[in-house]
Amino acid sequence: MSERVAVDSAAAGGPQSEDDARAALIATCLQMNALRINQGRSGNVSIRWDRGAAQGMLVTPSALAYERMVVDDLVWMPLAPGAGPDRPVVDGPRAPSTEWRIHRDLYLARPDAVAVVHAHSPFATTLACSPRGQAQGIPAFHYMVAVAGGEDIRCARYETFGSQELSDRALAALEGRSACLLANHGLLALGASLEAALELALEVENLSRVYWQVLQLGEPALLDTAEMARVLERFRDYRAVGAAADASAPGGGASPPRSAAAR
Ligand SMILES: [Zn+2]
Repeated sequence: MSERVAVDSAAAGGPQSEDDARAALIATCLQMNALRINQGRSGNVSIRWDRGAAQGMLVTPSALAYERMVVDDLVWMPLAPGAGPDRPVVDGPRAPSTEWRIHRDLYLARPDAVAVVHAHSPFATTLACSPRGQAQGIPAFHYMVAVAGGEDIRCARYETFGSQELSDRALAALEGRSACLLANHGLLALGASLEAALELALEVENLSRVYWQVLQLGEPALLDTAEMARVLERFRDYRAVGAAADASAPGGGASPPRSAAAR
């Protein structure tokens, strides 16, 4: 494995060397299994990781069980276009996750994205497979919906897995948001660290479960736009407090999204 150097741009408080970043990525994958938001080999995770002046990312490999993953299995890819849309330039023996386009495109388009988590978690996927969930996403049935940055959590329209079209739809659904559902597929969350992205993915899964439960009882009672604007304002205030927000965030410890990249 070549040139695993420490970079100045390592996220503040994040991994300081590429080996550390690789180990943190594997730890996040194992946490996804422990939290049961990963199904089989379907999830994938990445972290923004530059090598010197070359912007890039580390991403989980395609079709490898997390329990068997070692640091050399993770794939470093430059963010710059490679040899062709279907032939990414990679460093390492393995092929990147089939959803590498989503990860790459998010890092190119979203400076606030330092880590990206994708999962086929059961309840988010349940909603994403229903016409209602696809049309409305997760509406403001609970104030914590604002944790993803807006008054709802959108659902990206269906496209074939691994396609550029899916990445395009996902980026559109994530406009002004840090999480979305993917129709007939799963969920996507980004954050200023692996921990933040995983925490947000877990929060979206929990919201999906509760929303699904509410739908069993009938129509949900929704918060209106004015109230969600107040909630979003409060979340911005908490975020402004910085790291202290972690201990005092609304919702009993779940952090509001951190829009400012830590790097
Ligand atoms: Zn997937």
